[in-house]
Amino acid sequence: MTDRKAATRRRWLKVLEEHRSDWERPGSERCWSPKLECASREELRAIQSRKLAALAPFLYENSPFYRRRFNRLGMVPDDLITVEDLPKWPVVDKREMVEDALANPPYGTYTAHDDALWAERGWMIFGTSGTTGAPRVFRYSQIDRTYWEWANARALHSMGIRKGDSAMLISGFGPHVFIWGVAVALARMGIPMIPGGGLDARMRAGFVDRYKPTVLACTPSYALHLGRIMQGMDLDPAKSSVRTILVGGEPAMGIASTRTRLEQVWGARLVEFYGCTEAAPHCGGYSCPSSVAADGSVASHLMEDIGIWELVDAETRSPMAPGGRGLTVTTNLNSESSPQLRFLVGDYTVLDEKPCACGRTHARALGAFVGRADDVVNIRGIKLYPSQIEEGVRAVPGIGDEYEIVLATDGGGLDHMTIRVEHGEHKAGAARIAELVAAEVRTRCEVRVAVDVLAPGTLPKTEFKAKRVRDTRART
Ligand SMILES: [Zn+2]
Repeated sequence: MTDRKAATRRRWLKVLEEHRSDWERPGSERCWSPKLECASREELRAIQSRKLAALAPFLYENSPFYRRRFNRLGMVPDDLITVEDLPKWPVVDKREMVEDALANPPYGTYTAHDDALWAERGWMIFGTSGTTGAPRVFRYSQIDRTYWEWANARALHSMGIRKGDSAMLISGFGPHVFIWGVAVALARMGIPMIPGGGLDARMRAGFVDRYKPTVLACTPSYALHLGRIMQGMDLDPAKSSVRTILVGGEPAMGIASTRTRLEQVWGARLVEFYGCTEAAPHCGGYSCPSSVAADGSVASHLMEDIGIWELVDAETRSPMAPGGRGLTVTTNLNSESSPQLRFLVGDYTVLDEKPCACGRTHARALGAFVGRADDVVNIRGIKLYPSQIEEGVRAVPGIGDEYEIVLATDGGGLDHMTIRVEHGEHKAGAARIAELVAAEVRTRCEVRVAVDVLAPGTLPKTEFKAKRVRDTRART
């Protein structure tokens, strides 16, 4: 038994090793791993299948969650040999992981990481922020760290980050994957870092002014907040050393008005990191030099030699036909500890497999990403993303960066949405501004909203991830 456990692990790690290239340094100026990033679609499929054939037995032998699932489904690892076999395996979702975590505290059994591995080569614990459901925890190994470094260095290289840059990282440095992943990649790339945790916004603004980073890595809402703080200190962020804003943790590229606002405030280019804690903790998707087309449309690449990306129908969870809009699902082919099989990440997008103008062949998520389906707000049967509201709010000139969506039930039992915004003309111009915001939101979401126009500085300032929705509705 133990033999099979160790043997399948050895084989999995060997297959991972066989399929990496440009491990230490970039293979070309344009691509970190040109061989992999510009491989033909057929080669990519072949790499995915070879990895998958080693992954299924590895998970069966090393993760009790997966073994139970194979048994319950009446399947064996040999049923998952090629990419074409994948649809046989029903999508794994957060709920299933939560149940396992609750039954097997504190780590659950959905990873291939156990106490013995933790003692031998454990690296770090990461966890979901727990906005929906119980927090899920993931232990990663030192081997995982090396694969994170490589995957993320490839993404950062694609974003145009090079030696000679320096990056300021702003985060609470808690167990969240994004900023740690950026930090280990920068270290591999030989790019210096300025850690910006544990400071207030004015001190951070001072850091930008004094230490002159060329890259700022944080959430999009924090980048906006910091830019405004700098403006208030007479330090124009557009004239600062920052030329690239690298964001993660919240959607930004896919929300045109947010991207424009960030780029204007900072006079810098916005690039985005896409992934999830559970199955694509290193880079899953990333911006490239052609991420914004001449017509303003945006797209993000998905890393396909180290992951299999699919879209499924939100209701049936069956694979979407090519060109269809569905929810993202990933199979991680780049991890010792958490190589999940068909995990439902849950962002709506459309995939395009045509080669990109940047030369990469990996599929692109058209329109990038606008938020997890979990975050969708349902108001009187109309489903909408907070990002659609954001788009409407930001379209009105002079509106402050912070806003809040309040959902409430009135005396008659009817649900209403009120958007609270800030504007300098909140006294004389309130009625006109409210009308403008309501109209912009209505054209995007077909929902009527009330708008409160408040004095600038009324709403709480965002620290890291913004909390935009306050739901006070009566539950039946
Ligand atoms: Zn590209």
